[in-house]
Amino acid sequence: MHTVSSARKKSLRVIGILLLGLALGTLAGFLGGLYAAVQAAQFVLRDYSFQMIRQADDAASQIEIIQHAFSRITPDFCSDAEIASMRSYMYASSAVKDIGRMRDSSLVCSAGAGRLPSPVAMPTPLMVSTHGTVVYGMLPLYFAPGQKGIVLGIHSMDIVLAPFLFSSLKRDGMDYMVLMVNAPRHQIVRIAGAQIPVDPNWVLSQGSLRTRDALLLSRCSRINSVCVVTRESRKIIQDHNEFLLTTLTIVGASLGLIISLIVLFALSLRRSLPQQLRRAIRRGRLALVYQPIVDLETERCVGFETLVRWRDRDGLPVAPAIFVSIAEERGFIDELTHWVIRRSFQEMSELLHKHPDLELSINIAPSDLASQILLDRLDTYSALEGIEPRQIALEITERSTADLASASRAIHELHSRGYKIHIDDFGTGFSSLSYLHELTIDAIKIDRSFTRTAGTDSVTATILPQILFIAHSLNLQVIVEGVENDAQVEFLRTRGHVIRVQGWRFGRPLPAHLATRYLDQQQDQEFYGAPRPHLVR
Ligand code: C2E
Ligand code: MG
Ligand code: MG
Repeated sequence: MHTVSSARKKSLRVIGILLLGLALGTLAGFLGGLYAAVQAAQFVLRDYSFQMIRQADDAASQIEIIQHAFSRITPDFCSDAEIASMRSYMYASSAVKDIGRMRDSSLVCSAGAGRLPSPVAMPTPLMVSTHGTVVYGMLPLYFAPGQKGIVLGIHSMDIVLAPFLFSSLKRDGMDYMVLMVNAPRHQIVRIAGAQIPVDPNWVLSQGSLRTRDALLLSRCSRINSVCVVTRESRKIIQDHNEFLLTTLTIVGASLGLIISLIVLFALSLRRSLPQQLRRAIRRGRLALVYQPIVDLETERCVGFETLVRWRDRDGLPVAPAIFVSIAEERGFIDELTHWVIRRSFQEMSELLHKHPDLELSINIAPSDLASQILLDRLDTYSALEGIEPRQIALEITERSTADLASASRAIHELHSRGYKIHIDDFGTGFSSLSYLHELTIDAIKIDRSFTRTAGTDSVTATILPQILFIAHSLNLQVIVEGVENDAQVEFLRTRGHVIRVQGWRFGRPLPAHLATRYLDQQQDQEFYGAPRPHLVR
C-alpha cells in the first residue's frame, strides 16, 4: 500500500512539475511576445511620429519663406502685383493652400480670392502658439465656397494650410493627430488628423500611453510649436505581431518543459539513495537498535550488538545490508561508523556503567579497520562517556582480514587499547581458518546460515559442530547468530561448549530505552525466580 501510494505520489509530482514548467513557460513566452510586440509597435509609432514632425517642420519652413516676403505692410499692400506675387508663392508651396493679407485683424485680399469687396473681420483666435503663430482653426474658405481649411495668422499675413498636408503619410491601422501647442499655457489645438482625446500635459510631456485597446505616443517638434499624437490599436499590434507572439509562446513553452525536465533530473539526483543517505547521516536522521547477546548456559544477557536503522525520504525502511554497502561503495562509510560510535556510546553509556561486565558490539567496515581515525574516535568517545574500552567489541568481517598484515597491525593496536575484536558472519568469507592463528581475535560470530541448518539433515549442518570444535581448540569465544527456536537451542546445548547466542529466540533488536528495560527485567526475574524474558520485542 505504502509503496503504491508513494509511487503514485511520485508520478503526480513529476506530472505536476512538468505541467507547472509548461504553464509558466507558455505564460512567460506569451508575455514576452506581448512585450516584444509592444516594443515593436512603439518603434513603429516613433518612426511614424518622426515622419509627421518632419512633414510639419517642412511645412513651417515653407511658411517661413512666405512670411519673410509678406510680413510687412508696404505701399504695395494688396496691389495686383502683390497678389500676383502671393499666387506664385502659393503655387510653389505644397504646404499652403492660400495666402492672405490682413489689416486691423481683417482680411483684405488673398492669393486665391484676390482683393475682397470689403475687408472681412477675422474671428477670435483659438490660441496663440508658443512661437507666436495665431491659430484661427477651421474656417470657411472665400475662394472655394463650401470648403474649409485650417487658418493660421502670422503678423499681417494669414495662411490656409493645404488639406492633405499629412494625409499622404496615413498608414493602415494607425491614426495621427497634428497639434499646434502653447507649451507655457498648456494649450493644444488640432490642425490635422483624427480627433484623439488626450490630455495637453501628456502631449507636452511627449510620453507613451497604453490604454485598454491602443498604444499612443506623443512627440513634439524641437523648432516649431507642433506636436504629433500617433495611435495604434492593440488588435492591430497583435495582428501585426502574431508571428512574434506565436513563436515566442512556443519557445517559452518548450523552454519551460526543458527547465522542468532539468529540475526533475536535479531532484532525482539529489534524492537518489546515496545522496539521501549522506544527508541523513549528516543530519543524524538514523536510529540505533541493540540486540541482546546471551550466555547460553546461564541465559543471562552479556552484551548488545548495535544495529543501525534508516528510513528513506518516503518513510520506507531500507535494509542495513543495502545502505551500509552503498556507504562503503560511495566512500562515506567512515561517516556512518563515526555517527554509530558517537550515538551508541551516548545511548548506552549509562547501561554500561551500571553493568561493568556488559559488552557493546559495534559493526565496522574493512576500510574503518584500516584507518587511524577509528582508533582516535573510539578513544575520544569512550573517554567522553567514561566507557571502559574492554566493554567495547568491534565486529569485523572476514573481508577485513584480506590484507592479513595490515589487519593484524590494526587489531594489535585496538587490543593494546583494550578493545575487543569479533569476527562477524564467520564462515561466509574465506573458508580457510588459517588466519585465525595469525590474528589475535576474542570471538567469532558464526553466521546464521549455519544456525538455520543445525540439527537438520542438510549438508551444511555438519559444519557448525566443526567450527565450534576449532574455535574451542583455539580458545576463542563463540557467538552463534540467528538462533530462532528451541530446537536450535537444544542442539547447541548438547555441544558441551561455552557458547553465547544471539537471535530472535532471545531478543529482537531493541531501542536503547527498551534494551535497558530488558536488562532490568532480567535482573528482577532472576531475583524473584520468574521466567526469563526470552522474546522481548
Ligand atoms: P550482522 O552484523 O550480522 O547483524 C545481524 C543481523 O542479523 C541483523 O540484521 C539482525 O537484525 C539479524 N538477526 C538477528 N537475529 C536474527 C534471527 O534470529 N533471525 C534472523 N533471520 N535474523 C536475525 P540487520 O540489522 O538487518 O543487519 C544486517 C547487517 O547490516 C549486519 O549484519 C551488519 O553487517 C550490517 N550492519 C548493521 N548495522 C551496522 C552498522 O552500524 N555498521 C555497519 N558497518 N554495518 C552494520
Ligand atoms: Mg554484526
Ligand atoms: Mg553477523
